Order: sequence, then C-alpha cells, then structure tokens
Amino acid sequence: MQLTAEQEEWKRRAHEAGTEFREASEQWDREDKVDYAAVAKRFGELGFFGITAPREYGGQGLTCVEYLIAMSEILRASGSWICCEPLFATSGPGPSMLMLSQNEAVREKYLRDVVTGKLGCAIALTEPDHGSDLTHLEVSATSDGDGWIINGHKNYVTGAMHNELYAIFVRFDGIPGPRGIGAVVVHKDTPGFSMIKGPEFIGVRGIPHGDVFLDNVRVGPDDLIVGPGQFANLMQAFNMERLHNCGASLGLMMAAFDETSEHVQQRHQFGRPVIEFQSVYHALVDISITIDAHRLLAFEAARGAIDGRYPQMEAVSKAKLFGGTNVPLVTMKCLELMGGVGVTYDRLTQRLHRDAVTNVVAGGAPSVLRNSIASQIFPGIKFPQTKPRADK
Ligand SMILES: Cc1cc2nc3c(=O)[nH]c(=O)nc-3n(C[C@H](O)[C@H](O)[C@H](O)COP(=O)(O)OP(=O)(O)OC[C@H]3O[C@@H](n4cnc5c(N)ncnc54)[C@H](O)[C@@H]3O)c2cc1C
Repeated sequence: MQLTAEQEEWKRRAHEAGTEFREASEQWDREDKVDYAAVAKRFGELGFFGITAPREYGGQGLTCVEYLIAMSEILRASGSWICCEPLFATSGPGPSMLMLSQNEAVREKYLRDVVTGKLGCAIALTEPDHGSDLTHLEVSATSDGDGWIINGHKNYVTGAMHNELYAIFVRFDGIPGPRGIGAVVVHKDTPGFSMIKGPEFIGVRGIPHGDVFLDNVRVGPDDLIVGPGQFANLMQAFNMERLHNCGASLGLMMAAFDETSEHVQQRHQFGRPVIEFQSVYHALVDISITIDAHRLLAFEAARGAIDGRYPQMEAVSKAKLFGGTNVPLVTMKCLELMGGVGVTYDRLTQRLHRDAVTNVVAGGAPSVLRNSIASQIFPGIKFPQTKPRADK
C-alpha cells in the first residue's frame, strides 16, 4: 500500500521505537516478567498513546491506518507484543468502547485519562464457561436504583494486574441472549474487585494475563458504557481488537521473514549460501506473497474504518482470519529454513512462532470468525450456533 510522506515518517518512528526494546524483549520472554509501567511510559514519551482517539480528549486524532502501521512496525522491530500493549491500552478496544459510548458522563469521567496513558484500560469479555459464545455471558449487572451491582468471574484478561480500568461485558438484569449484554467500566480499587495472575501461556510471555473477580461491585451511571439492547454497537468497538491482532500477525510475519532472509544469506552449505537452493528461495517468495496478501487485507480493513476509528466487521474479520491462520505457517516454515539454530533460544523466530500460535484464537477463534463472515456475506441466511432446546 502506498503510504503518504507523513505515514512513512510515522512508520520510521515506530520502527525506531521498537528497536529500542529488541534486546530487552528476549529477557521478558525468558523470565515471563516485565516492568510494564516503564515500557508504557517510554511509548508515551515517544508519542504512541491515543493514536485513534479524538483530540478533544487528548488523543492524536489519527486513524486505524496509523494504528496498524505503528503496531506492525513496533512488533517487527522489537519482536515483542509487550511494546504494543501501550497502544492497545490507550486506543484499542477498551478505549474504543468508551469513545463509541453514547453516555457523555462515562466519557468525561475516564476517556482523557485513558487516552493520555494515565489510566490503562483492559477489556474483559471471556468467562471460564463462555469464550467464543459471548451471547451466554453470565457476569451479572443488577439494577439498584441509579446504579448496578456486578457479580461474577472473568478470565484471560490481558493486562490484568497492571491496568487500572476494566471494560467489562455484563448481562443486565438477567435479560437473556445478546439483548442482555452491555458493558461497564470498573476501577481496580472499587470495593469487591480483585484479581489473580492467570495461567502461564507458551507465547506472548511477559504480558500479564489475569482473572478478575467481581463480588458485589457497585458501579454508577457514569460507569455505564453501553446498556442492554446494543450488542451490535459493542461489537463494533470490539473490532479494534481484531485490527490489533492483524497488526500483530503482520509484525510477526515480517520479523520472521527478516531474520530468516538474513540467516539463509549468511549460512553456507555444500559450498554455497543456503538461499541459492531453489526450495529455499521459492519458500521465501511464497512467504513474501503471504505477507503482502495479509498487508493488503489488513490495510483495507483499516482504511474502511468508520470515522477512521471503528473497523467494519466483514473486512476486519477476514483480515484477522487470514493473518491469524497464516502467521503460524509462516513462522513454522521460517524455523525450518533456519535449520537447528532456528529452534534454539539464541534466535528470535522460535519466540515469534510461540507468539503466533498463542494468537490464533485470541480475539476470536478462526471458526467463529468464519461464522461471522458468513453472516456478512449472506445476510439473508441465518447461521444459528445455539443448540435448539429439546422442548421446541
Ligand atoms: C493470548 C490471549 C489473550 C487473550 N486476551 C483476552 C482479553 O484481554 N480479554 C478477554 O476477555 N479474553 C481474552 N482472551 C480470551 C479469548 O478471547 C478466548 O480464548 C477466545 O474467544 C476463544 O474462547 P475459548 O478459549 O473459551 O475457546 P472456546 O470458545 O472453548 O472454543 C474452542 C474451539 O471451539 C470451536 N468453536 C467454538 N464455538 C464455535 C462455533 N460457534 N462454531 C465453530 N467452532 C466453534 C473453535 O474451533 C474454537 O477454537 C485471550 C486469549 C488468549 C489466548
């Protein structure tokens, strides 16, 4: 895709920012630990907070195209997801839900602090018994006059333990199905809110993931993002999560291609650089085409975003599906081309592969994305996923 001169400069800055952390990211992976506050602070100083957020709330007023450029280039240069978390926390899906909210009170209360990085905002949809199936979520919000009492358990929350705010999907007043789902913001210091560290993942290590427990947590009208009956609006903001995943898969593919291309030019076997073997350069050609195809789909989704800010379901789901399913194939082929050294901790590609595998279902499993794309392509046909009740 042709970038403007400003976008080329933005890309160069993102690459430079990621390069700063290339060495440190190896240690983060090994120890599964990072001083996230320091990393976030640095990305704020480098100008990567609130990319798509409106200027009146302290954001940069840029678009999803700049978000995607920054995300993929920072990951490519650093080899680490952690460096992209500050972008996610200040204009990813949580902040996007706040931006899209019709409730001015919640925007006034939180948006400026989120966009400027003062308060990090994570997103909590998944529950132990409901991952892909968001329509049956159980975390409850029960009206108590002018507010709601929240109860339940969320898991796999990226950024739990270090973010201050949690955009939490809840079911209002027991209303069944998607009609009952909305979202509220909860500050971690609210009475009844607690967190524990989640299970250790094979990839995206260093990024904290946690479980969130809500025990009679009270939220007021200025904590309401979206009430019941607006599930489609909520999912529109969630599309930013999918664009973030697209940036991740693009960055991972490019980083693997970079390291592998360099290796096969330096490594000699049978008296010639390995790249001179046809099977090797053909494989690199195929990878390069896969990267281009993913880039086209991802930038198409970013360019078509409503108000430059909210990616549209069909385009971003297609891009996320293509990137998420192809990135492990790309990193796997790169490992093969690098030979034995590829699967040692001395090289980056093994980490990229673990990250790629970890990313396949995050933000929507491939089959679930296919369901959603089918509904977009064939709007007249219903694709019910819920098992019909035996008594019907
Ligand atoms: C690294 C990582 C980070 C994450 N971060 C967050 C976060 O910040 N916040 C958050 O809320 N969640 C987060 N998650 C959770 C993530 O959104 C879920 O893992 C994902 O939605 C899938 O849910 P599940 O794991 O329960 O899989 P399940 O829903 O149990 O699905 C398992 C498999 O069943 C199949 N399947 C399920 N339903 C259907 C269907 N209708 N049609 C066809 N096949 C189907 C699919 O093949 C799917 O892969 C994260 C997950 C990971 C791995």
